[in-house]
Amino acid sequence: MQVFKFGGASVKDAPAIRNLLRILQLYAGEELVVVISAMGKTTNFLERVLKAYSQQEDTADLVEELMRYHEDILEELLPDDREGKARLATLRAALERKLAEPFSGRYDYEYDQIVSFGELMSTTLISYYLQASGVSNTWLCACELVMTDTTYREGRVDWNLTGDRIRQAVPAALKDHPVVITQGFIGGTDEQTRVTLGREGSDYTAAIFAYCLDAERVTIWKDVPGLLNADPKRFPDAVKIDEIPYQEALELSYYGASVIHPKTLKPLQNKHIPLNVKSFFHPEEAGSMIGDCPLSTNISSFIVKDNQTLLTIFPKDFSFVAEENLSEIFSLFAQYRVRINMMQNSALSFSVCTGTELDRVKDCVQALMPRYKVKYNEQVTLVTIRHYTPEAIRRVTEGRTILLRQTSRTTIQYVLL
Ligand code: ASP
Ligand code: MG
Repeated sequence: MQVFKFGGASVKDAPAIRNLLRILQLYAGEELVVVISAMGKTTNFLERVLKAYSQQEDTADLVEELMRYHEDILEELLPDDREGKARLATLRAALERKLAEPFSGRYDYEYDQIVSFGELMSTTLISYYLQASGVSNTWLCACELVMTDTTYREGRVDWNLTGDRIRQAVPAALKDHPVVITQGFIGGTDEQTRVTLGREGSDYTAAIFAYCLDAERVTIWKDVPGLLNADPKRFPDAVKIDEIPYQEALELSYYGASVIHPKTLKPLQNKHIPLNVKSFFHPEEAGSMIGDCPLSTNISSFIVKDNQTLLTIFPKDFSFVAEENLSEIFSLFAQYRVRINMMQNSALSFSVCTGTELDRVKDCVQALMPRYKVKYNEQVTLVTIRHYTPEAIRRVTEGRTILLRQTSRTTIQYVLL
């Protein structure tokens, strides 16, 4: 049994979904658990719906546009079909019922109840289309299988319960049909509410299913040929890495290489389940393999993160930045869920580079204010180079102002203006 994951770009329109069908047909006869994200930019769009809802604005036009996007794709795939449209209409009605309720004021909770519709819609549409095209499948709701606590927008997985649920539902479904279709990114709580696992969390979902089912492998289907040493949009000479050990891939995703969600690799490593990153345009090509292999290349990898905020925090009483201050600062960061991408301390200040959205950062800064002075630079860039060389450093720093720099034997990081 294998787990496949298709992200938003791989299901963004009718041709993309036909391509997904073709890929599944290449694996006919195999048992597949197929994890699918919301279509195209739907998650971003639903974030707009949520924002309007939270501000008591009218959401009718937004919902109309969202539905038209899905309906048009369905119409292109299966002209004049009624049943599929009826299923989308059921989801639309559920979303509209939700939006007719008064806003509870619990933003993160509401986020998960609303934004999760993206995956519910994509999987409903695709499961139906696959069935109509001869790929018989079972649609399962991840919100009844991936069980988490109530940390909305970043649900923490209860592995025991999740394992029980998945092992109960999936093998039984696979007995009936060789393919299971489920949603990435979403899960559920004991309180029968939906939860999301954090943006781009569908990769993590694939790893959760693979782990619980002892899958043979996971394949993430992407619009790039595999794992590259840099983003080809910035580095036209980027090259594919054919094979890479878990540890190295973990380091790259930890520093923000956007190919794989950082939580994905650990569960796979623990069970020695290989992860294949492949191009959905060229399914016959090998892609990149992450697994129990030696580190075969020392080629420099570049990870560039824009839209970062650099915070520099000084105790107001001019005390040193000692353990007491740091522990208070860290606990506020944890409380406001401000994610630290890089940090450095000196005697009188503590600096943090974060990519967390500015509103959340500002709330955290407010909480720090009584005891700390905080300076911040918005819109800075964090560059990480693994296996750096003088030439690699020159390439990223030339002509830029360096605000912060940190070095280890294998990694160098810069915060640049
Ligand atoms: N649809 C979600 C997102 O865009 C999850 C994912 O794509 O992995 O963040
Ligand atoms: Mg996505």
